Amino acid sequence: MEDELIKNIWAKTLDILKDTILQTTYQTWIVPLVPHSFEENCFCALTGQNLAVQILQKNQKDISKALSQICGKDVYFKLVYDEELHKKLEKEKQKNKKEEEKEFIKNLEKRITTTKYDGLKQMQSDCNLNLKYNFDNFVVGANNKFAHAVAMAVAKDPGKQYNPLYIYGGSGLGKTHLLQAIGHYVMFHKPQLKVKYIKSEDFINDVVTSIARGMDKANNKNNKIMNEFRQRYRSLDILLIDDIQFIEGKARTEEEMFNMFESLHNSGKQIVLTSDRSPDKFATLPDRLKTRFQMGLLADIQVPDIETRMAILTKLAKDNNVQMPADVIEFLASIYNKNIRELEGAFNTISAYTSINELPVNIEIVKKIINYKENRKTVTVEGIIEIVASHYNISVEDIKSTNRSAKTANARQSAIYLAKEMTGESYPYIGNCFNRKHTTIMYSYDKVKSDIKTDRQLAQDIKELTDKINE
Ligand code: ADP
Ligand code: MG
Repeated sequence: MEDELIKNIWAKTLDILKDTILQTTYQTWIVPLVPHSFEENCFCALTGQNLAVQILQKNQKDISKALSQICGKDVYFKLVYDEELHKKLEKEKQKNKKEEEKEFIKNLEKRITTTKYDGLKQMQSDCNLNLKYNFDNFVVGANNKFAHAVAMAVAKDPGKQYNPLYIYGGSGLGKTHLLQAIGHYVMFHKPQLKVKYIKSEDFINDVVTSIARGMDKANNKNNKIMNEFRQRYRSLDILLIDDIQFIEGKARTEEEMFNMFESLHNSGKQIVLTSDRSPDKFATLPDRLKTRFQMGLLADIQVPDIETRMAILTKLAKDNNVQMPADVIEFLASIYNKNIRELEGAFNTISAYTSINELPVNIEIVKKIINYKENRKTVTVEGIIEIVASHYNISVEDIKSTNRSAKTANARQSAIYLAKEMTGESYPYIGNCFNRKHTTIMYSYDKVKSDIKTDRQLAQDIKELTDKINE
């Protein structure tokens, strides 16, 4: 039969199917079908989607019925998977995606042609920002509400209140995201201001290279190079420094940071810092820097509760056009409960895997993809000894030996305490693992248990180790 006629029959059939088949099935699986041939009483259509043949089996009768109605005789509907069509669809998908991206960048560029920057790329490389992080896609929950509100206030009115703003919290909780969101906001709304985002490691490198370059030259040029370095930072209106904790213990960097801070702050320039800890938790950072960090406003970000984690996933799914059922969202939010970076990583893996393999997103498939075991990893005494040893940079043998150096003895006591707390094994069993009598184990356990109430450093160490062991 002629192609035109076949197409015509199919178009009329679609009109009927539109009202008789579930809307989502119709849109996802039926609309993309391509009518192919009509021989004898068999109407054949092609699909480029692996799963369509299987999924449309239950609609086979409905489709045949609609075809029969249009043709006025009994017609049998047959669906065939076609590899070529599959490839074509994939290509189109890629092309659409690229075009969407292009369109997005174009729109952005339009918005910023009025600024002093020469196009988006230039602007971002001048400010060192990543477009992925902005206020629009930051989900606000009880855990970050305060930090979000003050970050927004600073972005709207930099240098006026809350200077410096110091944001702190655990890894993967959104500090970098908020910091860069401030940068983007200012870049778009106050393009005349000079913004710079910098990781503290890069600042350290900058200090080190400037010193080295100064030493290379004749002595009298040393000052010139350091002055250039200082000028680079002091000409900024807003300085965003990420992960400030890394400067601790680097005396020259601490000094340069202090001077830079004073100079920017005194001239009303905005400084925003992030860190994995509050200023008072630094062990050796000079007091004058600590007090500077504390003189504006401190805002912490906590671990998000399950509702916020679900909201983040829902937003990710929506922004990426991924159909993710509610039970999958709840499941993922419940297991990735400490770190949004990991939650996002799992989401990306799942959406990539299911889209490449054309699989639906459901709990069974998701569990397989993320390799989820119902019984999560069991914690063993030996495993704990290994983690503690590597944490303190000593060997497993040291821990089990009679070595009494303070470092080894402390590590050993922490390991014993954690072994008892986390495995629930008996004292004699744990004694065996450490080559010690069970009374020694009991003594060590009790000692650490009471010491952590007063020794903050120890408490912090134990918390860190517990997290590592649970990882
Ligand atoms: P940190 O700097 O605290 O280690 P990041 O800012 O790098 O964490 O966040 C890790 C990932 O989680 C990023 O991809 C970030 O976009 C995302 N993320 C964190 N918090 C949120 C939030 N509230 N809403 C949306 N995405 C978030
Ligand atoms: Mg970060």
